[in-house]
This record gives sequence, C-alpha cells and structure tokens, in this order.
Amino acid sequence: MSKSFNPDDVSPTIGHYIGGAYAPADGVIDVTRPSDGKVAAACPVADAGMVDRAVQTAKAALKTSNWGGIRPRERSKVLQRWADLIEAEAGTLAMLEAAYSTRPVGQLGQGDIAITAEQIRFFAEFADKEDGTVVPTDDASFGMILTEPYGVVGAITPWNFPINMAGWKIGPALAAGNAVVLKPSEMTPFSTLYMAELATRAGLPDGLLNIVLGDGETTGNAITAHPDIAKVSFTGSTAAGSAIMANIARTGVKPMTLELGGKSPQIVFADADLEGAASAIANGILSNAGQACVAGSRLIVERTIAERLGDAIASHMRAVMPGPTWDAASKYSPIISQRQIERIDRIVKAAIAGGGECMLGGGRLEQAGYFYAPTLLSSIGSSSPAIVEEIFGPVLTMQTFDTEEEAVALADHPQYGLAAGLYTKDLSRALRLSRSLQAGTVWINRYNRSRDHILPTGGYKKSGFGKDLGRDAYLANRKSKSVLIALQ
Ligand code: NAD
Repeated sequence: MSKSFNPDDVSPTIGHYIGGAYAPADGVIDVTRPSDGKVAAACPVADAGMVDRAVQTAKAALKTSNWGGIRPRERSKVLQRWADLIEAEAGTLAMLEAAYSTRPVGQLGQGDIAITAEQIRFFAEFADKEDGTVVPTDDASFGMILTEPYGVVGAITPWNFPINMAGWKIGPALAAGNAVVLKPSEMTPFSTLYMAELATRAGLPDGLLNIVLGDGETTGNAITAHPDIAKVSFTGSTAAGSAIMANIARTGVKPMTLELGGKSPQIVFADADLEGAASAIANGILSNAGQACVAGSRLIVERTIAERLGDAIASHMRAVMPGPTWDAASKYSPIISQRQIERIDRIVKAAIAGGGECMLGGGRLEQAGYFYAPTLLSSIGSSSPAIVEEIFGPVLTMQTFDTEEEAVALADHPQYGLAAGLYTKDLSRALRLSRSLQAGTVWINRYNRSRDHILPTGGYKKSGFGKDLGRDAYLANRKSKSVLIALQ
C-alpha cells in the first residue's frame, strides 16, 4: 500500500543517467508540483553533446555485453529481476512519481507501478519465444525470415503516466535485444531516473539503459536527429509527433512509432446497462483528471436516454475526491500545470460562449494547486472547440443521436482515432460498429485499458502509427531479414 508522505522530504537525484551512473547536471527547467503549484526542483537539459555521450555509451554497451546476441532467456531474467525490484521499491518510486506528477500516491502501488512491473515481465517473456519463421520454398531452397534488434532505440515519453510510459518503451526494447536512450518529460523526470537505477541493480549491463533529461527542442531533437539512433519510439502530442517526423525526414531515415493524442467517443444506445455505462464513462474521463490519451471525452448518447444518463454520470462526477497527490486519500488528480489548466478553462468558456450548456463544473476547484472541476457540457455543435480539440482535462461533452448512422458519423473525428467506447446489449450492433468505428481500440460495455497486455494499443489517423503493448510492440523493436539458401 502506498502511504501519505510529505513532498518536502522527497529529494531526487538530479542528473542524467548514463552508463549505469549519474552524470550530475544543473537544473534549468522548473519542475512544479501540480498539487500545490510549488516549484520544487529543476530539470537539466542535455545538449547534443550529452545525448551523443549517451548514444555512444549505449553502442559500446551493446558491443561489450553482446546483449542482442546472448541467450534470450538471460535477457528475460534480467528484466524479470528489474520488474521484481520495481515492485519491491514501489514506496520510493511512488513518492518520486506522486510528488511531481498528477498521479495520486494511492493509485500508484497497486496501480501504475504494479501494472508496469507486470508489463515488463510480459515483454521479458517474449525474448525467448518470439522470432522469425521458416517460409515455404521449393525443395532446392531453404527460406527464412530472421529478426534482429535495431541497436540503439531512442525513446521519448510524456508526463501523464511517467512510470508506465517508461515501462512501455524500455520493456520491449530491452527484451528484444536493443539498448535504449530515453528522455522523459521535463515536467516529470525523476521516477524514470530511479527506474534506470533499479535496472542497474537488477543486473542490466551498464550503458544499455540511459536516461537523458531535457526538453523537446534541445534534447528531444538531438535524440531524433542522432545518426546512431536506429529507431525512435515516441508517445506524446500529435504536434510533437509531426515535429519529430519532420526532424527525422530532415536528418536521415529511420523507423519510428508514434503514439499520439486522442479525442475518443463513447457511444451509448438506449438498450445499454445505464448504470454500468455511467460508471465506466465517468471513469473514462475522470481517470488522471482526463489527462490520458484514451480519455473518453465525447459522450454520444441516444436522445431518449440522454437526460437520465447525463444525470447518472454527473452524480459520479460530483463524488470525486480531489486532494494532493501525496495524500493517500486523494482519488482525483490535479492538472499538470498552470498553463494547461488555463487552456482547459479557455476551451470550456469558449464552448459555453458558443451556445454550449454547462451541466456541471466549468471552472477551477477552489483549493491549492491546479484542480479543475469535473465538467459536463451539452448542446454543443460539432465545430465547438470542446468537440474538436484534445482538451486533456476532465471535460466530457454530450451530443445526442437518433440513428446508428448518426452515432457513427458523430464518433468519426476528423483528426483523431485512438479509442472508442460502445455501450449496447445488441450483439450484432456491437460487432457492426466495432468494424465501422475508426479507432485503434474499441471497448464494448467497458472503457479504459485493462491488464490484458497482449492487446496492442495505438492510433488511427493523426493519433499515430505503430503500437505499444502486445506482440506488436515487441516485434516493433526488431527488424526482419529475409534469407534464402540454394541447397547444394
Ligand atoms: P508533448 O508532445 O508535449 O511531450 C511529450 C514528450 O515529447 C516530452 O518528453 C517532450 O519533452 C517531448 N517533445 C516535445 N516536442 C518534441 C520534439 N519536437 N522532438 C522531440 N521530443 C519532443 O506531450 P505531453 O504534453 O507530455 O503529453 C500529452 C500528450 O501525449 C497528449 O496529446 C496525449 O494524448 C499523448 N499521449 C498519447 C499516448 C498514446 O498511447 N497514444 C499515451 C500518453 C499520452
């Protein structure tokens, strides 16, 4: 169980983590605690030289450790030990995460941290199970497809679930035999550093996992442009994903996977279990205060039940328990920054000024830190900024439909296609819509990611390409080679 703590007692090591040790560095970017708005630390910024040092260290470590060439089971064992240590050190990790991020300490131990450890084990298990194939040829030949690690993978993660996002990138990359240079978000860098320390303690050869701190412009660009980074794995906004594609196009050719933003619909038909749907929908938008890529932010409901469902969701929304992330009783997250809470409020106010009705919330909560009230907006048109923009806050819009076709049309966002929720007891309709919804994931009569790590996650449209989780994420960290032998 994660316990309450005093955030002033948390003092992270500040520096980059290269070659299994800290390279101390001065903090440059303020790190603010979202729960009380206090600037409590500073994040260094690795320049191109520091990034190069990390990449060269990773290259050298691949060579000396032969990480990609040792028995896969040995890689797996190291990762399993790492997962064990992550669980054993959940208390320290949780404090480093909760002090500076939006993740409540009470949701970390059995939540983010346990899930991350489980996902690392999931990827570790692929190391000695998943590989190439022998292909059908004529008798005079022998054909096979081999897979190989890329080399040094450059990973960049967002601030919203720092430990979990780091696990998604590092787990499959290391299991597949690569080395990693990872840049966490400059807003929440410290838990990732500690994860790297734990990897060293688990026996990961020095230099295979390097963490460089910094912003996107300097450090991020240096990673994506580096000629010895063989592949880029990114999770973050669509805008940053586009900038990364442009940078890679300008500086060289390399594969990338991009997990980007979303604006996911939740469609409810009149035959659905309304109480179950209300609870799942509320959770789908309130989890991490809507700061989740798959946040189910657009409710699309059959007109006949709109009022009843709206009331049921509102009652879940009223029951949130906001509080500082270091208080084990807190269950509702703050918004990451002053800038972001102002942006949320601007979009909400613009939607209301444009004719939207605010059924609940619509402003900041009056308490320290950056807390925004769970907000329910109805009567808004499809061009409202609340419908178009990824708000990344606890704001649920409500639109109504009369026919299935109308529901599908409303669900189809011009830009995003990350996830969709669908609530109905009609099996044929569920199957029909799961085909027609333009999203990388469709959840039926439930919402949010589960612990079925075999299900890949990733977007359609500008929500990105490539997948995290599942077999896909492991294979995305290996390249394939076709071999054809003439038998003599
Ligand atoms: P962001 O794009 O601002 O930053 C993400 C990371 O990219 C940070 O580490 C940042 O420093 C870095 N970065 C920014 N610009 C860069 C550049 N030009 N080159 C290289 N690196 C750069 O996103 P954020 O605000 O940290 O996170 C929120 C966004 O992430 C939302 O849009 C959310 O939907 C998305 N997200 C997607 C998924 C998914 O699985 N699809 C998961 C979590 C978050």
